[in-house]
Amino acid sequence: MLRATKYDGAEHWVQPFRVLADDGNLLVTEYRARTPIFTSRGEFRSPYNSRVYFWRDRWFNVFRLSRPGCALALWYCNVTTPPTLTGGELTYVDLDLDVCVRPNGCIELLDEDEFEAHQRKYDYPDDVIRAAEDAAREVAELARRRQFPFALG
Ligand SMILES: [Mg+2]
Repeated sequence: MLRATKYDGAEHWVQPFRVLADDGNLLVTEYRARTPIFTSRGEFRSPYNSRVYFWRDRWFNVFRLSRPGCALALWYCNVTTPPTLTGGELTYVDLDLDVCVRPNGCIELLDEDEFEAHQRKYDYPDDVIRAAEDAAREVAELARRRQFPFALG
């Protein structure tokens, strides 16, 4: 299971996954559409198949979302602490900021207000704030340059 928490350890997002590849840094996983996902806002079934890219040294992940039988829909990138995979459990802290990338090249930074509010609520250290802001910029730049994993098709 993938277990994302907020900064205080509260469960935020729990999702089953299958490992497709793992080179020790880059971990590629897969989630099938309609499989239950447990979130702090209730159970949720995504209409999308996801291929998810995690790097153990990066402060973001990338969900490549596509409807079953259809071409790519979008990439949804979450700013998080670097993930840890232990005994089949993939864990990280969600740091609110998200970057949505569409195939037409539209790149949108989301949840800045939540990031702002949670800096105060959870008292994020300065280095965490800086790492999160850098990560949002870094993933948007990769998308702008169409670098891995933002290939069309
Ligand atoms: Mg968010």
